[in-house]
Amino acid sequence: MDYSHVRDVDPAVADALEGEVDRQRDTLAMIASENHVSKAVLEAQSSVLTNKYAEGYPGKRYYAGCTYADEVENLAIDRAKELWGAEHVNVQPHSGTQANMGVYLAMLDPGDKILSLDLTHGGHLSHGHPANFTGQLFDVEQYHVDPETGYIDYDELEEKAREFEPDIIVSGYSAYPRAVEWETIQDVADDVDAYHLADIAHITGLVAAGVHPSPVGVADFVTGSTHKTIRAGRGGIIMTSEEYASDVDKAVFPGSQGGPLMHNIAGKAVGFKEALQPEFEDYAQQVVDNAETLAETFQDHGLKVVSEGTDTHLVLVDLRESHPDLTGGDAEDALDSTGIVLNANTVPGETRSAFNPSGIRAGTPGLTTRGFDEKATKEVGDLIYRVVDNHDDTDVLAEVAEDVQGLTDEFGLYE
Ligand SMILES: *Cc1c(COP(=O)(O)O)cnc(C)c1O
Repeated sequence: MDYSHVRDVDPAVADALEGEVDRQRDTLAMIASENHVSKAVLEAQSSVLTNKYAEGYPGKRYYAGCTYADEVENLAIDRAKELWGAEHVNVQPHSGTQANMGVYLAMLDPGDKILSLDLTHGGHLSHGHPANFTGQLFDVEQYHVDPETGYIDYDELEEKAREFEPDIIVSGYSAYPRAVEWETIQDVADDVDAYHLADIAHITGLVAAGVHPSPVGVADFVTGSTHKTIRAGRGGIIMTSEEYASDVDKAVFPGSQGGPLMHNIAGKAVGFKEALQPEFEDYAQQVVDNAETLAETFQDHGLKVVSEGTDTHLVLVDLRESHPDLTGGDAEDALDSTGIVLNANTVPGETRSAFNPSGIRAGTPGLTTRGFDEKATKEVGDLIYRVVDNHDDTDVLAEVAEDVQGLTDEFGLYE
């Protein structure tokens, strides 16, 4: 990475940027929502399109000089339609949360009712949490996963829907390791005359590659992020049918955003093109295979894996049975000290706080981008277990850090 121009102007920021390049290269990014984009996506995202105002949509802009902005946005839209098979796509949301905001603003009025999964069971802030605008503007009721099985309790969801009569049901999650039954939820939404928003932020890439069932064409609205399992740079996306197209577009601009981040839309276009190549299906399948390997490795060591496995890119571990004195936060810190970067997470039936919960969440998208296969992923699973089991033994932590360095050297990044 060349940050020489930044260095000339601002050595402090250049130091931080170069430090971050080294940090990403020398650690294992296992935060399930993170990944590493290609140099092509990085270039597009840092392009001169950051200078361009392009309020409006291709062909209907409020500014002159939008020839190339239109070209780039149309490419992003066309490729997204091809990737996910959507009738209508809006690529302007600045993030996944903004994409959700676009849908709520298009279809709901303040005071309307949202039925969504409890945050501590794997939901997302933008699905109705009191600290988020959704919890402040809307009336929110929540469904849960079955604490015994770790799977969505679809019966409870249906009961809650009948009692609460929501205006919208939100599916799609942040810490749910299993395939979601989109049709089951759509049927409930139809029965109670609610819209259905499927937020596939975490699994956009898995859905695009066909390794996870798709809600596109099932749910009324599908939102996603473009930087998690698909490597198209930070941002959001909304997919819907022609029926709701203009409501959604108006809710994004001018409803809740100003000028689109055209440089990010260029990154989306390039990342979507990469995802349309046949290799992307292999990548997505490897992400899931690696997550399964990680789950099995943890189970072989006696750790409790929520839902006894995974169908996706992530594994959720409940530490309470095997390590009752170890919090997720302490495990996160011990792992971080060895170069394994993942996050503490709440688990179904959480008994600690959301700030220092009882579980850890580990994802494989970043490792798989670096070329990790099942064998290398099993090594990482073994290392994670060693840290969890010896979290206050500095000798063990130093040995694990050396092994992590061996792996990050073997599987390079941005070379
Ligand atoms: C990550 C995530 C989002 C998007 O988050 P942003 O940080 O706003 O891009 C939205 N919904 C779910 C379920 C998520 O996990």
